[in-house]
Amino acid sequence: MDKYQVLKQCFGFDSFREGQETLIDGILAGKDVFGVMPTGSGKSLCFQIPALIMEGITLVISPLISLMKDQVTALNQAGVHAAYLNSSLTARQYEKALEYARAGRYPIIYVAPERLETEAFLDFALHTKIAMVAVDEAHCVSQWGQDFRPSYLKIVKFIKRLPTRPIVSAFTATATKEVREDIIDILMLQEPVMVTTGYDRPNLYLGVQHPGNKYEALRAFLEAHSNQCGIVYCLTRKLVEDISERLREDGVSVTRYHAGLSAEERRKNQDDFIYDRSQVMVATNAFGMGIDKSNVRFIIHYNMPGSVEAYYQEIGRCARDQEPGECILYYSGQDVVTNQFFLDHNTDNDQLDLVTRRIVSERDRERLRKMTFYCFTNECLRDYILRYFGEYHSNYCGNCANCLTRFETVDVTEMARALVGCVFSCRQRYGVNVILDTVRGANTAKIRQYRMEQSPYYGSLSRIPVYRLRQVMNYLEMQGFLSVTRDEYAIVKLTEQSGRILDRGEAVVMKMAQEEQDTGERSGERKRKKETVGTMLSPAGEGLFEKLRSLRAEIAKAEQVPPYIVFSDKTLVHMCMIRPKMETDLLKVPGVGAFKAGKYGEQFLECIRNNVVDDESYVVNEQLLPGKKPRKGKKEFAMTRELAEKIQYLECISLSDFVGQINGLRDDDTMKRLTIKSINQKLTADGYFEETVIDGYSRRTLTEVGEAFGITAEKRISEKGNEYEVFYYTERAQRQIVEWLLDSGNGLRCESTGLSS
Ligand code: ADP
Ligand code: MG
Repeated sequence: MDKYQVLKQCFGFDSFREGQETLIDGILAGKDVFGVMPTGSGKSLCFQIPALIMEGITLVISPLISLMKDQVTALNQAGVHAAYLNSSLTARQYEKALEYARAGRYPIIYVAPERLETEAFLDFALHTKIAMVAVDEAHCVSQWGQDFRPSYLKIVKFIKRLPTRPIVSAFTATATKEVREDIIDILMLQEPVMVTTGYDRPNLYLGVQHPGNKYEALRAFLEAHSNQCGIVYCLTRKLVEDISERLREDGVSVTRYHAGLSAEERRKNQDDFIYDRSQVMVATNAFGMGIDKSNVRFIIHYNMPGSVEAYYQEIGRCARDQEPGECILYYSGQDVVTNQFFLDHNTDNDQLDLVTRRIVSERDRERLRKMTFYCFTNECLRDYILRYFGEYHSNYCGNCANCLTRFETVDVTEMARALVGCVFSCRQRYGVNVILDTVRGANTAKIRQYRMEQSPYYGSLSRIPVYRLRQVMNYLEMQGFLSVTRDEYAIVKLTEQSGRILDRGEAVVMKMAQEEQDTGERSGERKRKKETVGTMLSPAGEGLFEKLRSLRAEIAKAEQVPPYIVFSDKTLVHMCMIRPKMETDLLKVPGVGAFKAGKYGEQFLECIRNNVVDDESYVVNEQLLPGKKPRKGKKEFAMTRELAEKIQYLECISLSDFVGQINGLRDDDTMKRLTIKSINQKLTADGYFEETVIDGYSRRTLTEVGEAFGITAEKRISEKGNEYEVFYYTERAQRQIVEWLLDSGNGLRCESTGLSS
């Protein structure tokens, strides 16, 4: 079999993803390879496919038992003989596995690094042809990485003992420059074929919130995502227990995980989550390494973690199926304090000498600061993270809270001057909290002890909410107007730039989220599209999906594997969209290979046959079907008589709903969508709306001609007491708009006059 056949027959995929082919070709050409690819990008296939083609055995080194087990189960499900050798096997099972291995039964063997130097294993390895050693999660060799495993250092020694050097391949998702260099050096990769596909996970929506009440925010989120599963990360074990308990009382299907639980309970809870028996996992960072569950739809951080490295690794468990996922961090000032406490009491580095320990500790504090800045930046969040890892992208991703928020520029000169002035007047001796408490005019023991109530700045910003002060403080630091010492005292110091504010009176402006009129949320957040493949199903489609899901659950239960190992959600959704009738059609569904089709095909086909009605529609919009993706260079939107006849006119509808309906009716996928903007432009140009600028915002108001045209305005009052208007279009207006569209052929021209009245 060649690589394409293996891809299709064993794994059920039609094409390779970015980077996979290069790495596979490299291995097949006998070269070392090194793949740095984000979580979920499909690194496993890069060593599994060559392993099935090459002569000899591939040893896969992997740091965790759960990881090995999952991958081996998945391979076995795909009809590939594979085994693992680690401490979870009894002596007898281990013997048996080695015996089969010697007999050449397994092309792929997963092995824990600790095993490499044991007598029994060496005896086997020295007498077998080992084609490749694949090091998965290769960052574990680096002391600079997140999960350094000393046992990974054994790998090289082991390779050196082999009679002929096998191909060595290494894979990781985490690779800052230091880690990357460490991997190449320590594993002694020989001129490896390198593939770096970058850190970006464009399917993850990123957001930061500063909720007044985190628990309520979480509950509301879970309520809105009641049919999805996800992880809630907390900083402490106690919080994990509290939150999971409260959620349980509130009726959420929840389980928990932290290092203080018994091994028994941890295993059970992890399984409950993986096997879809519990929807929400509340956990400390002890949970997650090796969690391959592909349909984790959200990751909520109830607390800010200690570094961007940790954060990115934790959200890496989200949406491995490459469907949209949401990663939201709930920040509070207390999180910084807790993390600082962890750093101050960290005993991990006790064996290090004093100098190194200081360097490491400063590095950790620096990481914490960078993480904190993430929570305060108003720039693109994705860009912030990618830059942190040394990748440069555009500063607009369109899928993070900041890119989706409308911002305004706010003059913060007065606040900046008071903060910098306060630092100056106390002779740069105190930390952030003392400075903030001083300008707020707080009456605390510390303030009295330091006599800060006598500072000329005491209470000078008392009317400004503290979160805003913190925002400005962080901004000043990010911009280099102030700096904070990296030791445990975190003293605020002046910088060379400080004079620009203090002496030269430079103005400071800052980008801040525009407060939303009606909800108080950051605006724009509501515009976010959440079109997962799942949401493409119509109610009938969802019904079928549920049927297929129960069938999958039955099979998974009988075979004692997690459901996603039988078929992923995505594969089931595609089955609903394609609704295969025969095995040949089934093989066209992504994720269905020959082996699985043979094994489960009939059951799934039968389920589809029994539940599909011929002229029912299973998909919301057939245009969105994969393979029907609109090509580039699409022609302009054009209204046709045929299309116009299908439109359902309602008594009253918003413009976006109306346009949405029209777009849903298009049956030509080479045609662009009709945009709301094009219609709005025409309406304004023709005098139905007037644009006025109030307080720096541009507002639209309905004119008399607009009313005559059939648009109505409804006044609303937001919770904050602001008045705003919502516009509705009567049937008359709807029909008129369609007439325009028909007249103009393709798109709308604004010059037209006198269409009103
Ligand atoms: P990584 O180790 O890079 O985090 P995995 O190897 O676990 O990622 O793969 C993640 C998911 O992507 C798996 O569900 C896998 O089946 C799927 N996958 C891998 N390669 C392809 C491909 N070429 N086409 C479609 N899906 C793929
Ligand atoms: Mg992996």
